[in-house]
Amino acid sequence: MGGETTLGRTTSSPAPISFFPRLLGKVAPVQRFLVFFHQLMLLFAYGGMGDGMKTVIMGAGAMGSLFGGLLTLSGEDVWLVDIWKEHIDTIRSRGLTLEEKGKSEKVHVHATSEVASVGKADVVLFFVKTYQTEKAVSDALVLQKENTAFLTLQNGLGNEDAICKQVDRREVIMGVTGQGATLLGPGHIRHAGWGKTFIGELDGKITDRANQIARIFLQAGMETEVSSHIDHLIWEKLFINTGINALTALTGFRNGQLLNFPETLRLMESLVSEAVEVARKKGIPIEGNPVEKVRTVAEATRENRSSMGQDFDHKRRTEIDAINGALVREAERLGISVPCNQMVTDLIKTIEKRF
Ligand code: NAD
Repeated sequence: MGGETTLGRTTSSPAPISFFPRLLGKVAPVQRFLVFFHQLMLLFAYGGMGDGMKTVIMGAGAMGSLFGGLLTLSGEDVWLVDIWKEHIDTIRSRGLTLEEKGKSEKVHVHATSEVASVGKADVVLFFVKTYQTEKAVSDALVLQKENTAFLTLQNGLGNEDAICKQVDRREVIMGVTGQGATLLGPGHIRHAGWGKTFIGELDGKITDRANQIARIFLQAGMETEVSSHIDHLIWEKLFINTGINALTALTGFRNGQLLNFPETLRLMESLVSEAVEVARKKGIPIEGNPVEKVRTVAEATRENRSSMGQDFDHKRRTEIDAINGALVREAERLGISVPCNQMVTDLIKTIEKRF
């Protein structure tokens, strides 16, 4: 898709190189020069500094506020849009409180509940829950001008279809992120994970606009790469969400506790193996051992409660339809049986009815 479109420019000032201190603060002194050099090379690879873009984030919950806060701190022109009035009012009156590694800072981010008041956007980034995407896309159409890019970093399957129903496929960029955040209250979030972000065009081309977006994320201290096979990475992340999220919701466990018992390990392995079978039949190449990778992620995030677990704890609707539920639908289409994913999907949806 998409040609080599360059995003339109806005009048905001160039972003300062404030990402160096952020990244360098996280490594031992002996490694600092290497990190500095690596980031400098990436920045050059993605086309240098400072051509301002206006980014509008639809959904300013945990992740939207994290990206909005970090991009604002690095000098980007960013607007947060959310239907949650109390949260937006708090950000407008007192700033966004961003907690990171025990420290807390206030970020003054543009925020509104009136998307029409924002004007036009160069990039629209979706960070609503998957079941809210269609409505958020229709609300965001007012932001569109020539060459507006619509990017999603949401989890699960189905976001591409939800966006492409209303926006030309050539304007859509997909992605996955290993960044993590927790919403602590109105106007208050905690940065909780620092994994890599990948973005990519639907047709796999490496375009100027994808490079520009990667560059502003990088400047904001978020390691980002443009991928020519973003669909494969979306499936890789789906394997992890499939193996961990529903199980932690149903059991009440933290991620790492799933590794402590033969029963949960067996369930995890069955859920992921079924997902791998579906992916293979779809022609997605499988790298390494996905079950082993899911175990590694559960170990690395041992103390975390998954987002679906947190949704259950707060008796909120989950994203099951975009994760295990989406796999069940894909499997049905391909004539494959995925009984374990069917079972956990039904269990989660049954329990949700009590909320
Ligand atoms: P969240 O529930 O904290 O935030 C979603 C926000 O969207 C809410 O504040 C809600 O009011 C808002 N919203 C709903 N409809 C809207 C609309 N029409 N217009 C504007 N705002 C609207 O969710 P989150 O944890 O930030 O997750 C967002 C997405 O990112 C999910 O798909 C999730 O799976 C994915 N994700 C989350 C994490 C994480 O650590 N939280 C990590 C990676 C990916």
